[in-house]
This record gives sequence, structure tokens and C-alpha cells, in this order.
Amino acid sequence: MIDVVPQGALWLFWFALGGCIGSFLNVCIYRMPREESLIRPRSRCPHCRHPIAWHDNIPLFSWAALRGRCRHCGAPIHWRYPVVELLTASLTVAVLHRFGAGPLGWAYVAFVAALIAVSFIDLEFQIIPDEISLGGLALGVLLSALLPALHGTDARLIAAGRSVLGLLVGGGVLYLTGLAGDLIFRKESMGGGDVKLMAMAGSLLGWKAALTAFFLAPFLALLPGLYVLFFKRSHVIPYGPFLSLALVVSLFFGTDLLRTSGVEETVKLMWEYYGPVSQ
Ligand SMILES: [Zn+2]
Repeated sequence: MIDVVPQGALWLFWFALGGCIGSFLNVCIYRMPREESLIRPRSRCPHCRHPIAWHDNIPLFSWAALRGRCRHCGAPIHWRYPVVELLTASLTVAVLHRFGAGPLGWAYVAFVAALIAVSFIDLEFQIIPDEISLGGLALGVLLSALLPALHGTDARLIAAGRSVLGLLVGGGVLYLTGLAGDLIFRKESMGGGDVKLMAMAGSLLGWKAALTAFFLAPFLALLPGLYVLFFKRSHVIPYGPFLSLALVVSLFFGTDLLRTSGVEETVKLMWEYYGPVSQ
């Protein structure tokens, strides 16, 4: 394919395809928390309820052509629409560039797409839909068995085992953190949605990447958390977007982060010390 189609055209095609995925994510972000069907009815302007024609629904392009306003009532289109489309298109290209446009790359594109949907839903509604987290978790284990390369092996059973281990570690560390938080603050501090999200991530990325994201997310949430605390006088901050961001960083740079932070070395030493002798 690369011989016939110039490389630049291929990137452009992936970017456009990513934009279409983002367009679908926008539908999910709007409809899932409202418990509406993802398929019917077709997209409408949330302001005047006028159905949106296909030519006004082309990712990014239509938003620019309409200058961010509904063609019928002139109401501004929510900033989220172009942002999600641009973000998804860019990350699709980045993921395929890094992991190749094979099954592995597309599995990661699907994972990142799920994280984008989760982040924007959590940001607005402070929930993470089970359809994404639990559905993704089941899909993560299944994909791992079908695509053992996800866990750096070619044995399906080992990959499925690593997937389940990742699920338990990812969900487990967050569950325990939440438990500790409940005891210290005497109220629910970590949502169950966050636990399920990390379990899903672990099932696809494995326990190392999940653990890396777990340690990274609080640092990413620190500044926004302080902002909310001092300027909005609130203690509530959705954690899903920060976990998601940490997971994307972990996906791209996880191995380097683990090496430089010394976490991998520490775990290895602990395993050698406490683990079975035969190891
Ligand atoms: Zn309208």
C-alpha cells in the first residue's frame, strides 16, 4: 500500500478517519450519560432540534465552514465537538505512527478513543459509564487472547493471564487507595468508576503500565485540584480525565518512565527477595 499511496496521503487518511472516530465519540459523550441510543435518531442541534445534514457533520471541516454555529438557529456549537475531533484525529495518527497500522495499533486507537469519551463524560457528569469501563474490560481480556503481542508474548494463554493480572492490579491499587481515603476522610473519596476504568486499562496494557499511570495521575491532577480547591471552593474533582491522561502517557512512554523512576527495579528486587525461590 505504501508503494502505491504516498506516505503523506496515508497520514491524512488516518487523520480524517480519526476525526470520524472523534465525531462518533461526541455522540457517545452527549448520549451515554443521558441514556439515549447511540444509533437513533440522527444528530440534531441540541438548541433548535433541527436534524444535522451529513455535509454539516463532517469532522472539523464543517465546524470551520459554519464558523462554529448551527446553520439553522445560529446557536454556538459546543467547543467540545471540534476539540474531541481534533484530539482523536491527532492521537489516532500518533498511536498508528508509534505502534504501526496493524491490529496492535488499532487496538490502542480503540483504547485511547475509550479514554477520550470517558474523560469528557466524567468532566461534565462525574460518572464513567459501565458500558465503556466494564465493556472495555471484557474486550481487553478477549483482545489480549486474540492478540498476545499486546502483552509482549505470542502465547495466547500467557497473554490472557497477564491481562487478568493487569486488570486485578489496575483495579486493585485504586480500590485500596479509595478504601484508605474513605477511612482517612470518612467519606467516599474515589469513585467506583475510576476503579473499573483502571481495571479496564490494566487488562489491555498490563500491570506495569497501569501501575505507572496510577503513580503519575496524582501529579497531573495536583495543579487543577488546587485550582478547584482555591478558586471554586470545591473538593470534588473528576479523576477520570487525569487517569486517562496518565494512561496515554504510560502507553507512549511507560517503559522509559518505569526505568528512570526506578519503580521497575524496586519491584524486581522485591520479587527476588520475597518471591518464590525457584524464580
Ligand atoms: Zn440549531
